[in-house]
Amino acid sequence: MENKYVDVLVVGSGVAGLYCALNLRQDLDVIVVSKDKIDCTNTSLAQGGISVARDLDDVPFFTEDTLKAGKYKNNIQAVNVLTKESIENVDYLVSLGLDVDKDEDGNWDYTKEGAHCVNRIIHTQDNTGENVEKILVKNSFQHKNIRISEDTFLVDIIERNNKCIGAILLKDKEQINVFAKFVVLACGGIGGLYKNSTSQRILRGDGLAVALRHEIELKDINYIQIHPTAFYDESGDERRFLISESVRGEGGKLYNINGERFVDELQPRDVVSDAIFNEMKKTNTPYVHLDISFLNEEYLKNRFSTIYNKCLEKGTDITKGPIKVSPAQHYFMGGIKVDLNSKTSMKNLYAVGETACTGIHGANRLASNSLLEGLVFSKRAAKDINENIDQFNLTKVYIDEMYTSREEIEEENKRIVVNAIKDKGGVIDD
Ligand SMILES: Cc1cc2nc3c(=O)[nH]c(=O)nc-3n(C[C@H](O)[C@H](O)[C@H](O)COP(=O)(O)OP(=O)(O)OC[C@H]3O[C@@H](n4cnc5c(N)ncnc54)[C@H](O)[C@@H]3O)c2cc1C
Repeated sequence: MENKYVDVLVVGSGVAGLYCALNLRQDLDVIVVSKDKIDCTNTSLAQGGISVARDLDDVPFFTEDTLKAGKYKNNIQAVNVLTKESIENVDYLVSLGLDVDKDEDGNWDYTKEGAHCVNRIIHTQDNTGENVEKILVKNSFQHKNIRISEDTFLVDIIERNNKCIGAILLKDKEQINVFAKFVVLACGGIGGLYKNSTSQRILRGDGLAVALRHEIELKDINYIQIHPTAFYDESGDERRFLISESVRGEGGKLYNINGERFVDELQPRDVVSDAIFNEMKKTNTPYVHLDISFLNEEYLKNRFSTIYNKCLEKGTDITKGPIKVSPAQHYFMGGIKVDLNSKTSMKNLYAVGETACTGIHGANRLASNSLLEGLVFSKRAAKDINENIDQFNLTKVYIDEMYTSREEIEEENKRIVVNAIKDKGGVIDD
């Protein structure tokens, strides 16, 4: 068993974890851990893009779109923060090296997605998340104060008197006790608990399990987003491949197997998913069709190169005919309850990204608001830590718990999280 001492421990290497680390003071000693390879994150899978207010005049409209999609169950203060701070954070991400697609005049090529009243999604073709992850990883490696540890599993946090003083990690079956002034949970969502999900399989709500064990407050854990259009794969691939909302944003149309339209494709995700489930039931077919093949072939191959290539691998040429799609679990709106600075109900513990619940999504997330939330609220966490860390010293205690089996902990985490979600009326297809 090894003991380590750092200023800040960040658990998770997606947009929320890495952007938080990058915004911490460079005189702070920071460790970022990921349970798998650094880029095995849902951030890397994001296709559509990042929503951002077009300008200050667009802020109220962006706020209203977010609230409407969320069925007005959102935390309005948090939504105001998100939309107001969207521009400065996206600008900063671009300054770190994100090469956003441009139109013919050299301006950002904003695209449209469901329930946005204007085009306000920036993107890099249809693999925005992969590029965001690459840029953040590259910048993190360049920061001398940030150490990264892959294949390092968070077992539990270390708590004394409702204060978080560190965390217990497992790497190659070796236990490492990290004592930190602050811990940031950026452990992503819960999709790995579902049979049918667009998420990385490794993301199984570990952060939530830690919170449940320590009676840290949670919020909205019954709010689970089902994406309308995942590729329908008869072979039953492990992870459902997403057909991004931007395909519908660019004009893609949904048809039932009799060739009939049945929904306005740009309604919020829950509305479109319900309409598809309804149609699948009516026609007794496990999928509907999504057609974008009427657009120019070269345009499609360039704008949706990831989707084009992946579908082709699976035997569908999107430039020639429709794609078979059906809904799949996609996003977790609920999570560990946090305030506007991403602080949890436990002292010195923050939660950011999909693990956290700021309340911005309400009952249904507006498309492309998740990467943005990861930026805005992890920067706020970093700022709060930067301003307050000098008042704290490390607390060191003797740890007598010994852990060796990651599998056992993951199974136990699954049991705790699934039960909690079901208890609150959430649906899990386990
Ligand atoms: C297919 C797909 C497409 C999407 N497209 C978009 C889009 O276009 N726009 C948008 O805004 N959103 C999109 N989303 C949602 C968005 O990608 C995610 O919500 C967001 O990236 C989550 O970021 P995060 O930093 O919170 O977590 P993630 O990026 O998922 O990272 C989670 C991190 O936590 C670590 N971790 C988890 N448990 C442990 C543990 N026990 N120990 C150690 N480390 C742990 C993992 O190793 C990983 O590093 C999409 C999601 C999917 C699945």
